[in-house]
Amino acid sequence: MNAQEMIAQEMDAQDELGGFRERFHLPKDVIYLCGHSLGLQPTSVRTYVEQELEDWEKLGVEGHFHARNPWMPYHRLATGKMAHVVGALPSEVVVMNSLTVNLHLMMVSFYRPIAPRSKILIEKGAFPSDQYAVRSQILYHGFDPKTSLMEVSGAEIVNAIESEGDSIALVLPGGVNYSTGEFYHLEAITRAGHDKGCVVGFDLAHAAGNVPLKLHDWGPDFAVWCTYKYLNSGPGSLGGCFVHERHARPGQIPRFAGWWGHEEESRFRMEPDFHPMPGAEGWQLSNPSILSLAAVRASLDLFEEARMDRLRAKSEALTGYLETLLHGRVDIVTPRDPARRGAQLSIRMPAGGRSICDRLAEKGVICDWREPDILRVAPVPLYNSFRDVFQFAQRFCAMLEVGSLRPVPLT
Ligand SMILES: *Cc1c(COP(=O)(O)O)cnc(C)c1O
Repeated sequence: MNAQEMIAQEMDAQDELGGFRERFHLPKDVIYLCGHSLGLQPTSVRTYVEQELEDWEKLGVEGHFHARNPWMPYHRLATGKMAHVVGALPSEVVVMNSLTVNLHLMMVSFYRPIAPRSKILIEKGAFPSDQYAVRSQILYHGFDPKTSLMEVSGAEIVNAIESEGDSIALVLPGGVNYSTGEFYHLEAITRAGHDKGCVVGFDLAHAAGNVPLKLHDWGPDFAVWCTYKYLNSGPGSLGGCFVHERHARPGQIPRFAGWWGHEEESRFRMEPDFHPMPGAEGWQLSNPSILSLAAVRASLDLFEEARMDRLRAKSEALTGYLETLLHGRVDIVTPRDPARRGAQLSIRMPAGGRSICDRLAEKGVICDWREPDILRVAPVPLYNSFRDVFQFAQRFCAMLEVGSLRPVPLT
């Protein structure tokens, strides 16, 4: 072990969250820096899921009311802890469906284009699913994406709202851009949007469980996210959805309805009139997958124990360490200001970069590649160590043939 590696080891020894690493299944013999794409499995997931398998095995349909955690209100077991992760009131949050589905459901309620206010503003380079979703909504309402879709770079979003806000129906950027890793100024964007009479929503796929969020205080109208990236709830797991308290009263806003959004007391009378539950729960359509929700619960229990403020402090240190090791050697496109990024650093690679990503995988380093030229690397504070970061940087820099790593101060 060289001096550098000992420094990393020392930082791990001082890390108060270091013990959480053992509570995840780490793929064997690899350095996993890909939690921005699919978070690792908490070891407790199996127990949570097995409990529901057992109850289903023993109780069949009776499990809806008589399982150890009855399935009918099961989604609520995730609500309070999820609300903590995104800085919301419990009544403002529900775990349901999946991300793009929730994005559409929220647009059904909150994108109400009436000329001359028909536009949707998204960030330039938004995740493709979001681009497809907003374009299809614009077309669905009889408008033309050529004139009704505004795509604006992060730094320009507030200015664009101030100059063109009167024509914008919905401001809908991501929280953290999937490609660059930039964390947008969501509070300022919300204020600018509301000042101009726009509805404001966020796609927090890369932000939830990664960066500090205060959705209730910032006051966007809605937000959606997934739980399989930083929230470690398993491939294809359920989505999260926030609807601000000011929209809680049923009947205010048009929505697509389903029975699971109906008031509980009268849901099983099966009457034709729809009476939604107040708050975000009233947007539910279907009874949710209990097996996936069990995994969400297992993961949220870890977040509750680790706490977002402590995770954020470690995340800034880990990502800062990664940046220190790479600084001056590669082209990092993620903002340098820790307040404007989460765990991920995005590196713009020269020609042939993709083969470096493949070779890293051969050498047991899992990060990922986004066309045309971005290598994404995310040290995740719940299960990554400073030593992971060091070992990544060492192997990566050796491949780039940019020499050995410089000494870094112990912070
Ligand atoms: C990961 C991600 C998605 C994926 O959508 P699913 O509906 O969960 O398949 C969509 N949008 C953004 C911004 C993402 O980061």
